[in-house]
Amino acid sequence: MEQLKLLWQLQELEQEIARKEIEMQNIPSVSAYRVRKREMAALQDTLSCYAEKMEAARKKMRRAELDLHNINGAIADLNKKLYGGAVHNTRELEGMEKKVLSMKTEQSAIEDNILSIMEELEKDEFKSSELDRETDMGQERLQQVKIQAQKDMQLARQELEELNRRREGITQRVEAPLLQKYRELKAKMHGQCISLVLNSFCGICNVSLPSAFRARILTPGQLIFCENCGSLLVLGD
Ligand SMILES: [Zn+2]
Repeated sequence: MEQLKLLWQLQELEQEIARKEIEMQNIPSVSAYRVRKREMAALQDTLSCYAEKMEAARKKMRRAELDLHNINGAIADLNKKLYGGAVHNTRELEGMEKKVLSMKTEQSAIEDNILSIMEELEKDEFKSSELDRETDMGQERLQQVKIQAQKDMQLARQELEELNRRREGITQRVEAPLLQKYRELKAKMHGQCISLVLNSFCGICNVSLPSAFRARILTPGQLIFCENCGSLLVLGD
Protein backbone atom coordinates (compact mmCIF):
# COMPACT_ATOMS: atom_id res chain seq x y z
CA MET A 1 0.00 0.00 0.00
CA GLU A 2 2.95 2.33 0.73
CA GLN A 3 4.01 2.09 -2.92
CA LEU A 4 0.50 2.91 -4.16
CA LYS A 5 0.31 5.89 -1.81
CA LEU A 6 3.56 7.14 -3.31
CA LEU A 7 2.05 6.74 -6.74
CA TRP A 8 -0.96 8.80 -5.71
CA GLN A 9 1.38 11.49 -4.31
CA LEU A 10 3.25 11.42 -7.61
CA GLN A 11 0.03 11.97 -9.52
CA GLU A 12 -0.98 14.89 -7.29
CA LEU A 13 2.46 16.42 -7.66
CA GLU A 14 2.40 16.05 -11.43
CA GLN A 15 -0.97 17.75 -11.54
CA GLU A 16 0.39 20.58 -9.46
CA ILE A 17 3.36 20.85 -11.81
CA ALA A 18 1.03 21.01 -14.82
CA ARG A 19 -1.02 23.73 -13.11
CA LYS A 20 2.13 25.64 -12.24
CA GLU A 21 3.34 25.45 -15.83
CA ILE A 22 0.06 26.91 -17.10
CA GLU A 23 0.19 29.53 -14.35
CA MET A 24 3.67 30.52 -15.50
CA GLN A 25 2.28 31.32 -18.96
CA ASN A 26 -0.21 33.71 -17.36
CA ILE A 27 1.66 35.64 -14.68
CA PRO A 28 -0.26 38.96 -14.41
CA SER A 29 2.84 41.14 -14.01
CA VAL A 30 4.46 39.50 -17.06
CA SER A 31 1.32 40.12 -19.15
CA ALA A 32 1.18 43.70 -17.85
CA TYR A 33 4.82 44.17 -18.84
CA ARG A 34 4.15 42.91 -22.38
CA VAL A 35 1.13 45.21 -22.78
CA ARG A 36 3.05 48.22 -21.47
CA LYS A 37 5.99 47.45 -23.70
CA ARG A 38 3.73 47.45 -26.76
CA GLU A 39 2.19 50.74 -25.62
CA MET A 40 5.65 52.26 -25.28
CA ALA A 41 6.63 51.08 -28.76
CA ALA A 42 3.47 52.72 -30.18
CA LEU A 43 4.33 55.92 -28.34
CA GLN A 44 7.84 55.88 -29.78
CA ASP A 45 6.37 55.43 -33.26
CA THR A 46 4.09 58.43 -32.79
CA LEU A 47 7.04 60.46 -31.53
CA SER A 48 9.17 59.65 -34.54
CA CYS A 49 6.23 60.54 -36.83
CA TYR A 50 6.11 63.95 -35.17
CA ALA A 51 9.87 64.34 -35.51
CA GLU A 52 9.67 63.61 -39.24
CA LYS A 53 6.74 65.97 -39.71
CA MET A 54 8.54 68.77 -37.86
CA GLU A 55 11.72 68.23 -39.81
CA ALA A 56 9.76 68.53 -43.08
CA ALA A 57 8.06 71.69 -41.80
CA ARG A 58 11.41 73.26 -40.87
CA LYS A 59 12.74 72.50 -44.34
CA LYS A 60 9.64 74.09 -45.89
CA MET A 61 10.11 77.08 -43.65
CA ARG A 62 13.75 77.54 -44.67
CA ARG A 63 12.72 77.45 -48.34
CA ALA A 64 9.93 79.97 -47.76
CA GLU A 65 12.32 82.26 -45.86
CA LEU A 66 14.76 82.10 -48.73
CA ASP A 67 11.95 82.92 -51.19
CA LEU A 68 10.94 85.85 -49.00
CA HIS A 69 14.50 87.09 -48.84
CA ASN A 70 14.78 86.93 -52.64
CA ILE A 71 11.49 88.66 -53.31
CA ASN A 72 12.30 91.38 -50.76
CA GLY A 73 15.56 91.96 -52.62
CA ALA A 74 13.80 92.05 -55.98
CA ILE A 75 11.20 94.54 -54.72
CA ALA A 76 13.94 96.78 -53.25
CA ASP A 77 15.80 96.70 -56.59
CA LEU A 78 12.67 97.60 -58.55
CA ASN A 79 11.80 100.38 -56.11
CA LYS A 80 15.30 101.77 -56.46
CA LYS A 81 14.89 101.86 -60.24
CA LEU A 82 11.35 103.20 -59.97
CA TYR A 83 12.23 106.12 -57.71
CA GLY A 84 15.87 106.52 -58.62
CA GLY A 85 15.05 108.84 -61.47
CA ALA A 86 16.96 106.87 -64.10
CA VAL A 87 13.84 105.63 -65.88
CA HIS A 88 11.66 108.27 -67.51
CA ASN A 89 9.54 106.26 -69.90
CA THR A 90 6.01 106.32 -68.49
CA ARG A 91 5.02 102.98 -69.92
CA GLU A 92 8.15 101.41 -68.53
CA LEU A 93 7.46 103.01 -65.14
CA GLU A 94 3.91 101.72 -65.18
CA GLY A 95 5.15 98.25 -66.02
CA MET A 96 7.56 98.39 -63.13
CA GLU A 97 4.85 99.55 -60.74
CA LYS A 98 2.65 96.66 -61.79
CA LYS A 99 5.54 94.29 -61.31
CA VAL A 100 6.15 95.65 -57.79
CA LEU A 101 2.47 95.22 -56.96
CA SER A 102 2.36 91.61 -58.10
CA MET A 103 5.60 90.90 -56.23
CA LYS A 104 4.11 92.40 -53.07
CA THR A 105 1.12 90.09 -53.41
CA GLU A 106 3.51 87.20 -53.71
CA GLN A 107 5.53 88.49 -50.74
CA SER A 108 2.39 88.64 -48.63
CA ALA A 109 1.43 85.08 -49.63
CA ILE A 110 4.89 83.83 -48.62
CA GLU A 111 4.64 85.64 -45.29
CA ASP A 112 1.22 84.06 -44.64
CA ASN A 113 2.66 80.69 -45.54
CA ILE A 114 5.58 81.15 -43.14
CA LEU A 115 3.16 82.11 -40.40
CA SER A 116 0.96 79.07 -40.86
CA ILE A 117 4.01 76.76 -40.98
CA MET A 118 5.21 78.33 -37.73
CA GLU A 119 1.82 77.87 -36.08
CA GLU A 120 1.63 74.24 -37.10
CA LEU A 121 5.22 73.70 -36.01
CA GLU A 122 4.57 75.21 -32.59
CA LYS A 123 1.55 72.96 -32.10
CA ASP A 124 3.58 69.90 -33.09
CA GLU A 125 6.49 70.92 -30.87
CA PHE A 126 4.12 71.22 -27.94
CA LYS A 127 2.51 67.83 -28.61
CA SER A 128 5.89 66.27 -29.17
CA SER A 129 7.30 67.57 -25.88
CA GLU A 130 4.19 66.29 -24.10
CA LEU A 131 4.73 62.88 -25.68
CA ASP A 132 8.38 63.09 -24.67
CA ARG A 133 7.42 63.56 -21.05
CA GLU A 134 4.86 60.77 -21.33
CA THR A 135 7.54 58.51 -22.77
CA ASP A 136 9.95 59.30 -19.95
CA MET A 137 7.34 58.53 -17.32
CA GLY A 138 6.25 55.46 -19.24
CA GLN A 139 9.82 54.17 -19.40
CA GLU A 140 10.13 54.53 -15.66
CA ARG A 141 6.89 52.64 -15.08
CA LEU A 142 7.92 50.02 -17.62
CA GLN A 143 11.13 49.48 -15.69
CA GLN A 144 9.19 49.00 -12.44
CA VAL A 145 6.76 46.55 -14.06
CA LYS A 146 9.72 44.72 -15.57
CA ILE A 147 11.38 44.29 -12.20
CA GLN A 148 8.12 42.94 -10.73
CA ALA A 149 7.64 40.60 -13.70
CA GLN A 150 11.19 39.28 -13.34
CA LYS A 151 10.66 38.71 -9.61
CA ASP A 152 7.36 36.88 -10.16
CA MET A 153 8.85 34.82 -12.97
CA GLN A 154 11.84 33.85 -10.87
CA LEU A 155 9.63 32.89 -7.94
CA ALA A 156 7.41 30.75 -10.18
CA ARG A 157 10.52 29.06 -11.62
CA GLN A 158 11.84 28.31 -8.15
CA GLU A 159 8.48 26.85 -7.12
CA LEU A 160 8.43 24.71 -10.24
CA GLU A 161 11.99 23.54 -9.61
CA GLU A 162 11.04 22.59 -6.06
CA LEU A 163 8.01 20.63 -7.30
CA ASN A 164 10.18 18.85 -9.86
CA ARG A 165 12.73 17.98 -7.17
CA ARG A 166 9.95 16.47 -5.05
CA ARG A 167 8.64 14.54 -8.05
CA GLU A 168 12.13 13.23 -8.70
CA GLY A 169 12.38 12.13 -5.06
CA ILE A 170 9.10 10.22 -5.20
CA THR A 171 9.84 8.72 -8.61
CA GLN A 172 13.03 7.24 -7.26
CA ARG A 173 11.15 5.56 -4.42
CA VAL A 174 8.49 3.91 -6.61
CA GLU A 175 9.36 0.47 -7.98
CA ALA A 176 10.03 0.53 -11.71
CA PRO A 177 7.21 -1.83 -12.87
CA LEU A 178 4.64 0.12 -10.88
CA LEU A 179 5.93 3.39 -12.26
CA GLN A 180 5.66 1.94 -15.76
CA LYS A 181 2.08 0.87 -15.02
CA TYR A 182 1.27 4.39 -13.82
CA ARG A 183 2.70 5.99 -16.97
CA GLU A 184 0.67 3.66 -19.17
CA LEU A 185 -2.52 4.22 -17.20
CA LYS A 186 -1.99 7.97 -17.17
CA ALA A 187 -1.55 8.06 -20.95
CA LYS A 188 -4.62 5.86 -21.44
CA MET A 189 -6.83 7.90 -19.12
CA HIS A 190 -5.44 11.27 -20.20
CA GLY A 191 -4.58 12.48 -16.73
CA GLN A 192 -6.00 11.29 -13.44
CA CYS A 193 -5.64 7.55 -13.08
CA ILE A 194 -4.81 6.92 -9.41
CA SER A 195 -7.88 7.12 -7.21
CA LEU A 196 -7.64 7.73 -3.47
CA VAL A 197 -10.49 5.80 -1.87
CA LEU A 198 -12.11 7.51 1.11
CA ASN A 199 -15.19 6.04 2.87
CA SER A 200 -15.34 3.39 0.14
CA PHE A 201 -15.92 5.95 -2.62
CA CYS A 202 -13.73 6.14 -5.71
CA GLY A 203 -11.78 9.40 -5.45
CA ILE A 204 -12.10 10.06 -9.17
CA CYS A 205 -15.57 9.03 -10.32
CA ASN A 206 -17.11 9.05 -6.83
CA VAL A 207 -18.85 5.70 -7.31
CA SER A 208 -19.49 3.65 -4.15
CA LEU A 209 -17.20 0.64 -4.12
CA PRO A 210 -18.48 -2.80 -3.01
CA SER A 211 -17.26 -3.83 0.45
CA ALA A 212 -15.27 -6.71 -1.02
CA PHE A 213 -12.94 -4.15 -2.61
CA ARG A 214 -11.51 -3.14 0.74
CA ALA A 215 -10.19 -6.62 1.50
CA ARG A 216 -8.84 -7.01 -2.03
CA ILE A 217 -7.12 -3.63 -1.91
CA LEU A 218 -5.34 -4.62 1.26
CA THR A 219 -3.94 -7.78 -0.31
CA PRO A 220 -0.20 -7.16 -0.87
CA GLY A 221 0.90 -7.06 -4.50
CA GLN A 222 -2.66 -6.73 -5.81
CA LEU A 223 -3.63 -3.93 -8.16
CA ILE A 224 -7.33 -3.18 -7.94
CA PHE A 225 -9.08 -0.95 -10.45
CA CYS A 226 -12.35 0.93 -10.21
CA GLU A 227 -14.88 -0.95 -12.33
CA ASN A 228 -16.57 2.31 -13.24
CA CYS A 229 -13.71 4.65 -14.29
CA GLY A 230 -10.80 2.21 -14.59
CA SER A 231 -8.51 4.06 -12.18
CA LEU A 232 -6.09 2.29 -9.91
CA LEU A 233 -7.48 2.29 -6.38
CA VAL A 234 -5.41 3.36 -3.37
CA LEU A 235 -6.82 3.21 0.10
CA GLY A 236 -6.84 6.64 1.67
CA ASP A 237 -8.30 5.77 5.08
ZN1 LIG B 1 -13.85 5.33 -10.27
